[in-house]
Amino acid sequence: MRPPADPAAALNLIKPSVRHQPPYTLRAPRPRRKLNQNESPYDVPLELKREILARVADAAWHRYPDFTPAPLLEALAARHEWTADGVLVGNGSNELIQASLAVSLDAGDRVVAPTPTFSLYRLLTAVFGGCYVPVAFGRDFRYDVDALIEAAVRERAKVVVLNSPNNPTGSALPADGVERILAATDALVVCDEAYQDFGGPTAVGLLAASPRLVVLRTFSKAFGLAGLRFGYALAHPAVAREIAKAKLPYNVNLATLIAAGLVLEHAEVRDARVREIVATRDRTLERLRRLDGLVVYPSAANFILIRCVARPAHEVFRLLLDDHGILVRDVSSAPELQECLRISVGTEEDMDAVAAALEEILRER
Ligand code: PMP
Repeated sequence: MRPPADPAAALNLIKPSVRHQPPYTLRAPRPRRKLNQNESPYDVPLELKREILARVADAAWHRYPDFTPAPLLEALAARHEWTADGVLVGNGSNELIQASLAVSLDAGDRVVAPTPTFSLYRLLTAVFGGCYVPVAFGRDFRYDVDALIEAAVRERAKVVVLNSPNNPTGSALPADGVERILAATDALVVCDEAYQDFGGPTAVGLLAASPRLVVLRTFSKAFGLAGLRFGYALAHPAVAREIAKAKLPYNVNLATLIAAGLVLEHAEVRDARVREIVATRDRTLERLRRLDGLVVYPSAANFILIRCVARPAHEVFRLLLDDHGILVRDVSSAPELQECLRISVGTEEDMDAVAAALEEILRER
């Protein structure tokens, strides 16, 4: 192949606000224990997979999927006691974050969000020409609702994005947090509840009274369906209709629609796994808290944030991977997360291995 031509002139056509953003990327070695992406440690049960595959085989692949997958929208609405015309499905909930920001942000509009949080909000705000206003958490990464309100009012925020429980800190909003932010601001409040199945309050109950609220959920975590990409948004039907304008038609493929419908029918599988992951998380929190040389933050999610005090985080990360085959997420490059690592909650065996490995690594210092 000839060497590619100089891209300078092409790059000048990309908005500077986008070029200045770091890309969303992930280095992906194949470790024995993969605890870096907050996935479920449990795959969809084989029997259920077979049922999904049989239904997919029966479907007409040469036809587009339904324009609005009515039975699935009804089932999702029923799960949350909401209305089907206020539900939007997405190719992962990421797509609905993108659509929500795409329809709301004009150039220069302010987006208020806590920091540190999921990096995609900042990146997509830049893509749509908005201005991102990060607001610090309180002590131990507790949500500071007063500070969020103060910033949203001061900046006349168009959008407030709240991730609860928050990635990567594990912090859950207080029970009245979203209600207070809705009452004190004029913003569109986007609540990303990707991890809410594992703990913390949900904002879903506020939807009926709050047309400015959008709640996002995903099947990538508690439902164990990250590979098939499925998420959804709940909003007032009039707002959902507007957000749908930024969603590409037929954004969710027919195999995923079939899988999501069947997985949703088997709520007992999800519930049992969530109970197990939460119990494993709490046992791991307790065990890690007994170790010298670590700060362990509270978590309402399916991951745990630790701060390495006795040894640098990059050393702990490397030793976990090289000596123990455990891949976690090194989040220490963010200014508020110096020396921090995020560990997804895996099986009980995974987490015993994590605790034993950290014990050994901290003993060797
Ligand atoms: N929101 C948050 C806070 C997340 O951490 C993630 C996954 N990294 C997502 C949304 C994306 O979920 P999905 O797989 O549904 O696109």
